[in-house]
Amino acid sequence: MMTCGTRLEAGEAKRSVNEALREKYSRQILFAGLGDQGQQRLLESSVVIVGCGAIGAAAANLLVRAGVGRIRIVDRDFVEPSNLQRQTLFDEADARDALPKAVAAERKLRSINSSVSVAGTVADVNPYNAQELLAGFDVILDGTDNFETRFLVNDFAVKSGQPWIYAAAVASYGLTMTIRPGLTPCLACLLPTDRRGQGLEETCDTIGVLGPIVNLIASLEVAEAMKLLAGRETDLHGRLMSCDVWTGRFQSVKVARNLECPVCVSREFAHLDGGAQPHITMCGRDSVQIHERSRQLDFAALEKSLAATAADVRQNNFLLQFRVPPYQMTVFADGRAIVKGTRDPAVARSLYARYIGS
Ligand SMILES: [Zn+2]
Repeated sequence: MMTCGTRLEAGEAKRSVNEALREKYSRQILFAGLGDQGQQRLLESSVVIVGCGAIGAAAANLLVRAGVGRIRIVDRDFVEPSNLQRQTLFDEADARDALPKAVAAERKLRSINSSVSVAGTVADVNPYNAQELLAGFDVILDGTDNFETRFLVNDFAVKSGQPWIYAAAVASYGLTMTIRPGLTPCLACLLPTDRRGQGLEETCDTIGVLGPIVNLIASLEVAEAMKLLAGRETDLHGRLMSCDVWTGRFQSVKVARNLECPVCVSREFAHLDGGAQPHITMCGRDSVQIHERSRQLDFAALEKSLAATAADVRQNNFLLQFRVPPYQMTVFADGRAIVKGTRDPAVARSLYARYIGS
């Protein structure tokens, strides 16, 4: 795991809405739902965004502009050309340099609003690092693309009592729900936590996704986050919102708490306890992620050793990438790897062993 960016100093947290900030946030302060007091609370608040794809990037952009005091962005992936159609924080240079999304996002967000403390963390949230990455934030926002991570975040949030906001989009359709442990249903009340045997899930990699739906869902998610952070809980919509920007269908339904929910009623945290986390996971349509814990790689040495056997070897201090046709491997400094061009864990494992070491 790699953390860049500055931590918020203790004294720095108490920012008052001084004149410069008052001008910066004036249109928000004028809004009756926030006012001076709401803005002050935003300035003193903290948010962690899990996943910085389209929804995460749009949410981060809005929150940083709104003046939330401290933001951490956790993402496991790097920027690719196919992201740019909807992931509004990134540009062609980020994709050309294959920058980790957390790093590219941190740079962009700092240039948008230098009075916010922004930290990008290149990591995959898992049962072992969830506490370190997510604890202590006022709200956790969903920017992930998979249910494994969502159920892990749900476990963590319910266990620790932190609110989190579920958000997802695919094709032209998306949905979001605000989860306040102890007060509202949780994600496991809404969906079965064991997704195995339910067939292939439709994802952005299989049926695509439109920019407008991810930005709309991120907007709904951030509006809820702002209400929570500003202490306006009574204004939360309290429903599962769904919308389709192609058909124009919008829905909001009241979700009931499941009285037999394994997570928020029985308090069984299977995803957080690690039992449900496999060593190798699918990551998009045609790639596999290999999780390696606390293994520090020497990129310079690795680059040298790969020169003779692999093609297009390159590194950017955050990751090392190379091709062994038809596969492409991306290895991060902590040993985690993404193998593109296969769905087969055995192929990925053997490539990892051969080129990175076992
Ligand atoms: Zn529940």
